[in-house]
Amino acid sequence: MTCGIVYDPSYLAHEQSQSHPERRERLSYTMDQLEEEGIFDLPQIRLIAPKPAMRDDVLLVHTEEYLKFLEDASVTGGIIDADTYIPKNLIQDALLAAGGAITGADAVLNQDVTNCFVLSRPPGHHAGISQGAGFCYLNNVAIMVRHLQSRGLRRIMILDWDAHHGNGTEEIFYDDPSVLVCSVHQYPFYPGSGRFEDIGTGDGKGYNINLPIPAGSSDKVYQYLLEEIIIPLADEYMPDAIAISAGQDNHYTDPLTGLALTAQGYSGMMKEMCILADSICYGRIIAVLEGGYSVEGGLPYTNLGLIAAMAGLDISSIREPEIYQDLLKKAVSEDAFPKVIKMVSGLKRILADHWYFIRRYESR
Ligand SMILES: [Zn+2]
Repeated sequence: MTCGIVYDPSYLAHEQSQSHPERRERLSYTMDQLEEEGIFDLPQIRLIAPKPAMRDDVLLVHTEEYLKFLEDASVTGGIIDADTYIPKNLIQDALLAAGGAITGADAVLNQDVTNCFVLSRPPGHHAGISQGAGFCYLNNVAIMVRHLQSRGLRRIMILDWDAHHGNGTEEIFYDDPSVLVCSVHQYPFYPGSGRFEDIGTGDGKGYNINLPIPAGSSDKVYQYLLEEIIIPLADEYMPDAIAISAGQDNHYTDPLTGLALTAQGYSGMMKEMCILADSICYGRIIAVLEGGYSVEGGLPYTNLGLIAAMAGLDISSIREPEIYQDLLKKAVSEDAFPKVIKMVSGLKRILADHWYFIRRYESR
């Protein structure tokens, strides 16, 4: 198994302000950690330089007007919302992030690597067809998915495990059965959307799966969702590739969110996704960094754990430093799991018409 890591020092350039949580240390600390662990010396790892996305790539997802707005505001500076400023030169950084996802996808499709992790900034999953939001400008994963389809892949599954609902991605593919969007997110929480009742529209009905989970959800909850919904969904959908909107803000040390996933939980989840991808789509996984704001406490270790799993390395020793362990006890809520079981049962009721694995399960 060979894992590509798409990265370029230019991914450190983007900055809204020095105190903004989506800051360059998110990546520089991760890269330091990976170097310290000798990851780049391993034969299973290949470092890949990103190429910028072209305007035509972006226009497969976003409107011409919105792209023009970003281009113009990148000259003068501008603002999208209270959390999302447009610094000068933004468009170059945003095109390199989207292009990194495309570069990673091409490396996987060309069989240069088995799978790929795109360590890019700025993130993308809150960006919809004609607007940015929540630190996001261009929807990197959506642009990459449309690129894969332009190269002949028919069905793509997107798993968005960022702590926030991937509302931009949902909007882009809401009526499209050729892209199965599955988002696991803290709920209720920013951006407010992501109810399990929202399952798509028109031909896309049944192909938008929201898994809203309460604050305090731990590794056990994610494991349950993988077994109950995510893996059976993928087995039935049989995608040609799996894209992961990999937000690491579910980690229990994250300052912006209330979930309680560990680095071991993350790497275990990725390992299962790799086994799944191996059985249904030649191992093709393209993971793209979304959120994750525990710059020192969680992010470097979760990113390391994900890459180790993708490269087929032993992940049993992946964990955070001991000094953070007390925080885990405070973060986990025992009430979360029963609430998630109830949510899954409601979700299955409204998805049963669309998915055989649910009907089969119910008839047992
Ligand atoms: Zn997030």
